[in-house]
Amino acid sequence: MSERPSTERASGTDDNEDGPNTTRRTFLKGSSAAAGMAALGLQGTDPANANDTDDADEDDDDEGDDGPTNVILFVGDGQGRAQLDLGRYLKAYRKNSEKFPLNTADVTYNVDRHDAHGSAMTYPDDPEEFVADSAATATALSTGHKTYNGAIAGVKNDAGEFVPKKTVLEQARDMGYAVGLVTTARMTHATPASFASHVPSRDEEEKIAKQYVRDSGVDVLFGGARSYFLPDGRENDSANLVAEAKRNGYNYVTTASELDSLDSAPALGLFSESDHLSYTLDRQDDDDSTQPGLGAMTGTAIELLEARGGRKGFFLMVESGRIDHASHSNYPVVAHEQLEADDVIGRLLDYAENSHGETSVITTADHETGGLSLATGGPYDVNFDVLDGMNASTATVVPKIEEAESREEVASIMAEQMGVELLDTELDELRAYDTPVAEILNERIRLGWTSTGHTAENVPTFATGPNAEFFDGTVDNTDIADAIRKRLNGD
Ligand SMILES: [Zn+2]
Repeated sequence: MSERPSTERASGTDDNEDGPNTTRRTFLKGSSAAAGMAALGLQGTDPANANDTDDADEDDDDEGDDGPTNVILFVGDGQGRAQLDLGRYLKAYRKNSEKFPLNTADVTYNVDRHDAHGSAMTYPDDPEEFVADSAATATALSTGHKTYNGAIAGVKNDAGEFVPKKTVLEQARDMGYAVGLVTTARMTHATPASFASHVPSRDEEEKIAKQYVRDSGVDVLFGGARSYFLPDGRENDSANLVAEAKRNGYNYVTTASELDSLDSAPALGLFSESDHLSYTLDRQDDDDSTQPGLGAMTGTAIELLEARGGRKGFFLMVESGRIDHASHSNYPVVAHEQLEADDVIGRLLDYAENSHGETSVITTADHETGGLSLATGGPYDVNFDVLDGMNASTATVVPKIEEAESREEVASIMAEQMGVELLDTELDELRAYDTPVAEILNERIRLGWTSTGHTAENVPTFATGPNAEFFDGTVDNTDIADAIRKRLNGD
């Protein structure tokens, strides 16, 4: 459980020229509908064919080589059916607002490209609560064990003691696969933490950071919040985990351009000071932002893991973490997070189609957040023009409104950043802090929310690759860990 990363570990990295034929460059080109249709035709789901050379690789130099096995788990944190569909319709609206909504069926929404479509149950094993938190669900996904809310990769025994459980990432690492974690949330947040650390409470983020660097052996760690790794940001000790990681051979990066120039694992990328990465919309709109998007982080992670995993392959967990945060705050900007997720899912499926060897992609959520509904209050409408007109998240706009000195200033902030002309009564309410900005936008767009927390509905789950048909239907979230273990074992 404490294998150190070493540049010597992966075998077969020297045949990189002949091996993987999809690089970061091709990954970053983005996805296409044509590639998606080809993927559906080419991806064999018959277990008997799992070791056949892929038709798409016929012109490879090393024909007959089974190639590496890769498993990629994409987790949209809080990504329920409605979040996914909000992204679907915004994508179609942007493609052609004149023909919308009748063009929607013709616009490729990337989750639809998976071979298998189903759903997963998310309830925890918790004495008090039926609705899961991200720690319990990530532990189910990573270990195959139901646990109590707050637990990171462990369960409580009858004596009430915390018992760590081995994760799929740790199994992959011990089998010689390269392993990686990518998130738009804090690196030490519950979802990534549950794959490579073990603590009784998700709040122990300083311990999680320490376990990542000292014990986990994760080859690629990309996410937010470097403060948990640096003496100034740590309250319980003054460990400099960045320095330790560097001594252990990690390449350390903190900006998008540094990420782009990374050429080998192990790599630690921490792209924000003490919080999650910004919402996609704010990142894209901020010329000074040095934060990479989820696509850039994922593309680099795959390139590094591919080289490091060599003939064995890699396991990678990618989390779109801010779908959950937007949904907790009932922010319409969740739609824009889903567009980024759609783009990354498309690229992952392109990669699965074009990569050397067998790549499985499993796309799921840990739970739904917010109880989102498309339409609310009676009227039969959702106003995608308002959603499309947003240029910033409410997280960015609220402080500006608080600082504004006049009603006119508030009006112009809302018009420029949110694309909405407010009524005088709405402006007065905003200035008096009676009505949150998000509430005004939800009212205009007609998005309904029933909660500021998580909900218990099953989450949409998708899979592509060998044995993907297992995911046609309803599964338990613990089954996802079992399916990953099977793929790692070559089953
Ligand atoms: Zn949450």
